[in-house]
Amino acid sequence: MSEHSNLDFRAVSGDRHSRPHSMSTNHHAHPHLDEDEDVPTPTRYRRIDHYAVDTTEAIAANVKSILTHIGEDPEREGLLKTPERVAKAHQFLTQGYGLDPKEILTKALFKEDYDEMILVKDIEVYSLCEHHMVPFFGKAHVAYIPDGQIVGLSKIPRVVDVFARRLQVQERLTMQIRDALTDVLKPKGVAVVIEATHMCMVMRGVQKQHSSTTTSAVSGAFQEERTRAEFMRLIG
Ligand SMILES: [Zn+2]
Repeated sequence: MSEHSNLDFRAVSGDRHSRPHSMSTNHHAHPHLDEDEDVPTPTRYRRIDHYAVDTTEAIAANVKSILTHIGEDPEREGLLKTPERVAKAHQFLTQGYGLDPKEILTKALFKEDYDEMILVKDIEVYSLCEHHMVPFFGKAHVAYIPDGQIVGLSKIPRVVDVFARRLQVQERLTMQIRDALTDVLKPKGVAVVIEATHMCMVMRGVQKQHSSTTTSAVSGAFQEERTRAEFMRLIG
């Protein structure tokens, strides 16, 4: 599932600051939010990029300046297209700002009496730390105990992705996922655990290589020791 969400990416319009165009970010984004169950496989892998020209040019100009300041020659062949590529990469990696996780969840709610724990394990997480704008990545495990309604399973990795595709700290990312699920699903409880490696620590040698950081956030029934223990055993 997470493989699909990685491949099925389309950068939304990065033109968040000037929206006079008829194609707003949301207008672009929403049709594909509900595609994952219905769209035949070939089109799932079609990559469609929408990058705002103004935003791309503005970021690229600054990237060129960074290249100069670190002692590079932005005019050498290998770097000629780098500012534009970096500008597009950053718009892609922060596309979550243009998406509303609660709306994604609200559209996929179903009435259901099932009241056991629902767990989605090993959701791939790719984010950027807000202190260094360097990647951190790992796995998220998300569980909830429904109270009369459930959500389409593919929406949980989607919500993780929408929050991860922003500048983040791992602690806040963990809580935002919990809170979105808690607010929309109104379940008996939500539990989120994220294990991630931060390149800003690993590459700078702040911590030993391969070290990872684990964060957790729970609500409702998962505050009870027994329920939390069952969740931890299941993700163990
Ligand atoms: Zn950092």
